[in-house]
Amino acid sequence: MSDEAVPVADSLAEVLADVRRYLGWHRDVAGEELHAACDGALVSGKAVNVLVTVEGSSTPPVVVEYAEVSAEVASVAEPVSEAPVVVVPPPPGPGAPGISVRAPADSPPAAPVEATVQAPSAGEPPRLDEVRRALGDCKRCKLCSGRKNLVFGVGNPKARLVFVGEGPGAEEDNQGIPFVGAAGQLLTKMIVAMGYTRDEVYICNVVKCRPPGNRNPEPDEIEACQPFLEAQLNAIRPSVIIALGKFAAQTLLRTDTPITRLRGQWREYVGVPLMPTFHPAYLLRNPAEKKAAWTDLQAVMARFPKPGA
Ligand code: SF4
Repeated sequence: MSDEAVPVADSLAEVLADVRRYLGWHRDVAGEELHAACDGALVSGKAVNVLVTVEGSSTPPVVVEYAEVSAEVASVAEPVSEAPVVVVPPPPGPGAPGISVRAPADSPPAAPVEATVQAPSAGEPPRLDEVRRALGDCKRCKLCSGRKNLVFGVGNPKARLVFVGEGPGAEEDNQGIPFVGAAGQLLTKMIVAMGYTRDEVYICNVVKCRPPGNRNPEPDEIEACQPFLEAQLNAIRPSVIIALGKFAAQTLLRTDTPITRLRGQWREYVGVPLMPTFHPAYLLRNPAEKKAAWTDLQAVMARFPKPGA
């Protein structure tokens, strides 16, 4: 294999890894066995586009652009062992390396900002540990009385991606860690499907203490806790926020628009792009909505691809 072929093979392996993640998402999360198919079309000279479509999917096809890729190079790409069927045929004709992956062209455009939250006061942002110290043994709302543990947040304090949920459940309250129950396991799969690990992102909630009986957090509780969520986001300064469910989206955007209308549309929180999507707990109760959630996550991946991926 030539020296030039190495990055091409790496790129092709990444493409296949993306397809595998997508299929894995449907197999593990949506419970569907999907099949991928590819179609090549000569576009100019020795360049060719290969369209990877997935049967039964509403998501846009992945377009793989080849330019003079040899069969030898294609053959060294990472095998797709877990996917039911993934075939990326070598492009026709002789050639040498050159491959790139383009995000789906019809990703949802940025929507007008419905409510832009004012930036916090100027000056050096707090560090995350300083925010935690300021929260202390918080008794600022009535949720303090029933909690076992205050669930502050977990992950990379300098994460590019921050996931904001609603509030801790029973398991989270027991462990003091957000998203560790059944919904948490689904969130972990969502994160992995996006190409990240839980350690690479940051995960927190609107309220840090468990509402009794897993009821919804009440307005006075959200109001009491919201400054600490905002301080967390100010400390992390992520590239993108993913608001999981109604309470996270409505709290951060200061709107009462239903999540069914918010989801999938880019918004903005203090200048940071924000993607509202369904809460994993909702997805567990409504598996048919997992396709919509995956579409939302794909829009994030298309606009903010993981560096080096
Ligand atoms: S929910 Fe927030 S404001 Fe209320 S007691 Fe817990 S940490 Fe304090």
